[in-house]
Amino acid sequence: MSGDPIAGIPTDGEIAVLGLARSGRAVALLLARHGHKVYASDASSESGVGVVAAELSAEGIAAESGGHDLGRVGRAAAVVASPGIPPSAPPLVAARERGVPVLSEIEVALRALRALDRSRVIAVTGTNGKSTTTAMIGAMLAGLGTSAAVAGNIGRALSEVALLSDVPEWISVELSSFQLHDTPSLAPAVGVLTNLSPDHLDRYASVGEYYADKALLFRNADAGSVWVSNADDADSARLTAGVAGRHARFSLSTRADAWLDAGADLLRLGGEELMPRGDLPLLGKHNVANALAAALAVSVADESFAGPGPRERIARALRNFQPLSHRLELLGEFRGVQWINDSKATNVGAALVALQAMERPTVLLLGGRHKGEPYAPLAAEIRRTVKRVLAYGEAAPLIAGDLAGVTDVRTLGDSFEEVVAESRKSAQPGDAVLLSPACSSYDMFSSFEERGDRFRQLALAESG
Ligand code: ADP
Repeated sequence: MSGDPIAGIPTDGEIAVLGLARSGRAVALLLARHGHKVYASDASSESGVGVVAAELSAEGIAAESGGHDLGRVGRAAAVVASPGIPPSAPPLVAARERGVPVLSEIEVALRALRALDRSRVIAVTGTNGKSTTTAMIGAMLAGLGTSAAVAGNIGRALSEVALLSDVPEWISVELSSFQLHDTPSLAPAVGVLTNLSPDHLDRYASVGEYYADKALLFRNADAGSVWVSNADDADSARLTAGVAGRHARFSLSTRADAWLDAGADLLRLGGEELMPRGDLPLLGKHNVANALAAALAVSVADESFAGPGPRERIARALRNFQPLSHRLELLGEFRGVQWINDSKATNVGAALVALQAMERPTVLLLGGRHKGEPYAPLAAEIRRTVKRVLAYGEAAPLIAGDLAGVTDVRTLGDSFEEVVAESRKSAQPGDAVLLSPACSSYDMFSSFEERGDRFRQLALAESG
């Protein structure tokens, strides 16, 4: 790979990389590979962070764990911040005060990939369904015979893809609102907005501010842009109204560019049959929406992806799609009780669709760290399908307050073992136990993955 500087990234000083988790590590290596001077730091002194700092130092990068040198950050030519670092964090404040430009890791990677001006990137954002849709798009692109990578918020940093010696022909990129914020060059071949509902109110002052970051998907829209969005969602319709370019829409209820024909029980694409709904190996109607969004995005991405042959390959990719872990993942049925891990449902909107997918009397585990949204919107679906709510963790009193009188709510503390033991006692053969917590995991776990893995482990102990 060339050592030429990345176009548009300063060469007249250091680039301060804040945060040494996956994307920080990858972007530090990418910048160094292109000859940029890098200072990489992380506030944490955990051993894993120290290992990354040592690895980067061995590559000749100035790297440290256990704190940021704020003076050095303030003197940098640009700052690349991990999406997990809130704008109020001291190094970002230091950068802003000195007028140092802040870029996302995605921005640097897109520039390194020269993936600007509607090149072969399909960018996916929205409140829920991003990872599933992004992964489905990746599977379809591969099924169409292209070399394709899946990257971004889904787990593999885009900078890791930019470090590959063989750059893939297509990239399906999941973008969170935080990642969109500092990505001024984003101009995807197709941009997908899955849906919008309130989220992250722990970090944004208002829903409007959160939606405004989502709208940055469209920042470089022009007549040649192509957008895919949700015809069933009024907030998405408002956000896309007036955005330049071609708009393709998917719907679960009405005829659209891709839609669920409920009468025939078929997914349709461009008026043609894509596949019977029963062939989609995923629980829940929301996953039909994700499948429609993905199929539509791929079919409009390139002329060669339209028509009967490609449509059949897109359908095949969906039939073979493996559900992602922690998303309405059926762990098994033990003593007649289904155990379902939906740990990724970290907001009320996600927990709502999980409930809509439930067909059995359900013991619902709700709790964790509160993110600012009320739980009352869950009430109707809870009445329909939930026999008992177990409210746990920091948010337990708020959940119990919002759902009082809706169903039987038991308030528990922060022992996850106790929560699972209580679920076991509450469920009878024919029931389901659903972890769809509507909160972040950070009061008790380091991530939603750790929470879901612990749930899986405790649930599988049921099988013995
Ligand atoms: P994201 O990456 O946006 O968090 P995921 O695909 O990882 O989305 O799904 C996360 C959770 O959101 C799932 O567990 C499910 O409960 C919910 N979800 C998935 N798709 C949708 C959708 N289209 N609409 C609403 N909720 C959804």
